[in-house]
Amino acid sequence: MKSYKICLIEGDGIGHEVIPAARLVLEATGVRLEFVEAQAGWETFERTGTSVPEATLETIKHTDATLFGAATSPTRKVPGFFGAIRYLRRKLDLFANVRPAKHHPVPGSRPRVDLVVVRENTEGLYVEQERSYLDGEIAIADTVITRRASARIGEYAARLAASRPRKQLHVAHKANVLPVTQGLFMNTVLAEAAKFPEVKTQDIIIDNCAMQLVRNPERFDVIVTTNLFGDILSDLTAGLVGGLGIAASGNIGKEHAVFEPVHGSAPDIAGKGIANPTAAILSAAMMLEYLGESTAAQRIERAVDQVLAEGPRTPDLGGSATTLEFAQAVAKAL
Ligand code: NAD
Ligand code: MN
Repeated sequence: MKSYKICLIEGDGIGHEVIPAARLVLEATGVRLEFVEAQAGWETFERTGTSVPEATLETIKHTDATLFGAATSPTRKVPGFFGAIRYLRRKLDLFANVRPAKHHPVPGSRPRVDLVVVRENTEGLYVEQERSYLDGEIAIADTVITRRASARIGEYAARLAASRPRKQLHVAHKANVLPVTQGLFMNTVLAEAAKFPEVKTQDIIIDNCAMQLVRNPERFDVIVTTNLFGDILSDLTAGLVGGLGIAASGNIGKEHAVFEPVHGSAPDIAGKGIANPTAAILSAAMMLEYLGESTAAQRIERAVDQVLAEGPRTPDLGGSATTLEFAQAVAKAL
């Protein structure tokens, strides 16, 4: 039997609660996993002066995959601080941020939704190049789009669409207003997608895409878009199927991959033991799929849906279960 080394990073806030819960479920699958814990995030920055210590980077590089909880980012500028997850995405070149949204048996989840947002993960407005002039009266941020990054995310998304039953790809953009940057992205992705003739590809303007997603989410399959649009759109699609408590994601590169819930550190509920661990557990399932353990991944997904349907549920879904009780129920359902 194959065995895998997994880097676990709790991070901040509810990361300390949902990652141990996901670990418990991973251990119940019977897949041979060796866990190595590492530190990153705001608390790590406060303790050590860096949000991603060198040792953490080394651990990620020398394990087969990483499961990350969440990291806090202050909205004010803090000297020396950088966002841990954004740093890892760029440093390890995790160019594809894959964010599925699929119907789950929970209140408010829209029926027949089964889509994936593929977010370009390394450039756009997230190059974090901001400056201000005239004593802060004017602020400017750069956005960077390259043909190389657009081509590889386009290829990734088209290949993903080709592997899915409906084989449909939307390229969401704002090339009508920003023909240089967004136009480069759109045209490059369309050219890559054309290499997959079985995939039905069309472009869609991002604001219209948001409206169509709210009205007819079931008509979408794979949506590929630039970094900021993908960040926002994937919270919207999470909202279509039950909210941030259940939205999973993977940051995938050629050599490394970091899986994480879409949600953040949720300071409003952190430390209470009531965070929904589903997003972290489904991210762990995506990680097993990535490692080639599809059967175990599907077993987790089925067990999660069974517990979501029958209970116990966490408070965000109207229940009163704790994080640990939910995870234990999933482990039992496995
Ligand atoms: P958030 O995702 O932390 O929380 C948004 C809302 O959803 C809150 O009301 C929270 O209680 C709820 N929520 C989120 N996850 C939940 C869960 N698993 N179970 C139940 N309820 C859940 O987003 P925010 O409040 O905008 O940001 C808080 C902090 O997290 C900020 O510092 C932000 O920078 C950071 N953040 C980090 C990431 C990441 O690590 N990838 C992503 C988003 C936000
Ligand atoms: Mn986000």
